[in-house]
Amino acid sequence: MTTSRPFPDCVAHYDPNALPVSAAQEIVRQWAAPRGPAPAERVSLFDALDRVLAEDVISPIDVPAHDNSAMDGYAFAGAKLESAGEVELTVIGTALAGQPYANALGAAQCVRIMTGALIPPGCDTVVPQEFVKREGDAIRFAASALRQGQNRRLAGEDLAKGRPALRAGRIVRASDLGLLASLGIAEVAVRRRLRVAFFSTGDELRSVGETLAPGCVYDSNRYTLYAMLRRLNVEPVDLGIVRDDRASLEIALRRATEVADVVISSGGVSVGDADFTRELMNSLGDVAFWKIAMRPGRPLAFGRLWSGPRPGDGESALFFGLPGNPVAVMATFYFIVREALLAMSGAAREALPVIEAVSTEPLKKRAGRTEFQRGVARRGDDGRFTVVTTGPQGSGVLSSMSEANCFIVLEHERGDIDAGDEVRIVPFAGLI
Ligand code: AMP
Ligand code: MG
Repeated sequence: MTTSRPFPDCVAHYDPNALPVSAAQEIVRQWAAPRGPAPAERVSLFDALDRVLAEDVISPIDVPAHDNSAMDGYAFAGAKLESAGEVELTVIGTALAGQPYANALGAAQCVRIMTGALIPPGCDTVVPQEFVKREGDAIRFAASALRQGQNRRLAGEDLAKGRPALRAGRIVRASDLGLLASLGIAEVAVRRRLRVAFFSTGDELRSVGETLAPGCVYDSNRYTLYAMLRRLNVEPVDLGIVRDDRASLEIALRRATEVADVVISSGGVSVGDADFTRELMNSLGDVAFWKIAMRPGRPLAFGRLWSGPRPGDGESALFFGLPGNPVAVMATFYFIVREALLAMSGAAREALPVIEAVSTEPLKKRAGRTEFQRGVARRGDDGRFTVVTTGPQGSGVLSSMSEANCFIVLEHERGDIDAGDEVRIVPFAGLI
């Protein structure tokens, strides 16, 4: 092992043939450093959606820029309220959004004001129109109906000038685009999109459009992977189907490592195929682990590959060798790959949402591995979530993923679950 390819000893404490999921996640976290120097490029707002901010966005202005009214009503000097009983004021003008009332007001005067209009000079309080009785130019209302300063939005209360409005590492959402626009910002610095090459392995695989010979199956993993990669807004590089032999796999891995930051394959890591894949990985790079104590998804290779003639030479890429079974591909992507791709994209870490739910049925579970069953969760009238599995949980049953709306996460140490027991669920939050 050369010094140019540091190999953390994080695996040393565990059996690399059966790592607990939490340990595997920790190793992946350590290996998945952000790629490339930030900032990478400036894009216009419309192109910024789902991109990762490369730097903090500092607010160039106060939002709102001036004190303004939160209600339709009447603006006046709130000191008036100190005299208890009824307040009586004369309406001397109108302030509309975009048409301020700029003159000074006398002691017993007020201005008709609409939501968003600037608070006139000397005023600090707005009485909502439904609180007042109006007769001609006079309004009356009970002083006890409000306090001084009420119904006024303060300048800078949404975003203060000079303060970070959004932080580096933020994945830009719809609300953020609006927020940036509200600051008058037309462009932001975003990180380069991560390039992720992916391919399927298996002599039995056929592409959609081909006829199926007996014993063959259509390649579905490339589609689920493509979709999940698109959801993460990385740049997917589809390398197709690769035959189950060492030479083809080596060509595919080298090519993928040259063009991408991360390489994801599916199939060819379970018993039988495992040996030549593992041997190949060892000759092209470092293997961090090989099997996870997880179901579905037990065979899962993770490491780093190099494109050059020897490990440490040429381009490098992280490698995830996912299992072939379609459900296992999705589960391992969700719980092992996703976070690494986000971290390498420069995104701030955000844990998956976890909800407690009551299992309405007994579940078979073996202690010593984490299981990810497919569930349908529903919120009951009492506000609590219940969850039921989608039925057969074979790791090839892709329809179970389509029917489900969550993973039921059964922790490593846990044994069988009784009906009525609490379990943790992770809703499919937009990725699946
Ligand atoms: P493997 O891990 O290569 O032994 O594959 C395990 C199971 O998943 C086998 O039944 C394969 O036929 C199936 N499989 C592997 N790759 C794919 C794929 N890309 N699409 C659909 N099924 C697959
Ligand atoms: Mg295979």
